[in-house]
Amino acid sequence: MPLLRLAIQKSGRLTEESLELMQECGIDFNKSGGKLKASAYNFPLEFLFLRDDDIPEYIADGVADLGIVGENVIAEENGKLSAPVEIVERLGFSRCRLSLAVARGVEYGSVQSLQGKRIATSFPNILQGFLQENGVNAEIHEISGSVEIAPSIGLADAICDIVSSGSTLLSNGLVEVETIFRSEAVLLSRPNLPPAKQRTLDNLRFRIQSVNRAKHNKYILLNARNEAVSAILNLLPGMKSPTVLPLAESGWSSIHAVVQEDTFWEIIEKLRAAGAEGILVVPIEKMIV
Ligand code: ATP
Ligand code: MG
Repeated sequence: MPLLRLAIQKSGRLTEESLELMQECGIDFNKSGGKLKASAYNFPLEFLFLRDDDIPEYIADGVADLGIVGENVIAEENGKLSAPVEIVERLGFSRCRLSLAVARGVEYGSVQSLQGKRIATSFPNILQGFLQENGVNAEIHEISGSVEIAPSIGLADAICDIVSSGSTLLSNGLVEVETIFRSEAVLLSRPNLPPAKQRTLDNLRFRIQSVNRAKHNKYILLNARNEAVSAILNLLPGMKSPTVLPLAESGWSSIHAVVQEDTFWEIIEKLRAAGAEGILVVPIEKMIV
């Protein structure tokens, strides 16, 4: 298979989980500190370690074929790239939002209150798009970091910045008033890869999907009296259908099924009420469908 080049953030919030995902996909490589490049031992993939903001342009240029960045970065840069790049997979980590915030105590009715105001941000394009959609004219101050201090030093009336828990805003005396973009890490690709590289990408995507599907599901094993089995089966989905096996003790069965994480606690309670006992919940490592 031909070599694909995947750009990963060198050091930052995306790095650890990007590398972990590669490991979960069974792709081994040696990343000893400080290197800019590494090759996988057991998959036709070469890693480039770069600053996240540079990754979309490296893909547009053809230096890299693929990259992992926050969706906010690609939304910000898309129109500015020398060639289009596309999102081929959503990765589910580094979830955050881009929000507008104002100083505590400042009156904020709606986005119209920002008319004529100064807003500091590292994401001028996303912000401009949002303001335009809402018919608001404001002065955008682009700054590359420490955006949250802009109101307290008199640089801006409001900020537009990345928020996850909101604790940074809180400690800077700011209140989140509007979410304008939701982001997670995404896999980017150059469109129209040569067919052989495309096959390698398809293989990588298949592995990523199997890993991520597994993360959203649990394997449940439980015991029940035979009379309770049909009521329990009605509560359980499964990849095909739940498995029912007789236990050594007569009159009892063991039931195995795959349950989605987001419905998990709700189902467990219903299972107990229906007579399930000895419930075991096991993580799934890969889920191939
Ligand atoms: P670089 O030095 O590579 O340019 P950076 O400082 O621009 O790094 P990071 O702070 O490492 O970027 O963030 C990388 C990405 O992680 C962001 O673009 C965003 O998608 C996501 N992110 C940022 N802050 C958070 C957060 N608090 N919680 C979750 N995800 C976040
Ligand atoms: Mg950056």
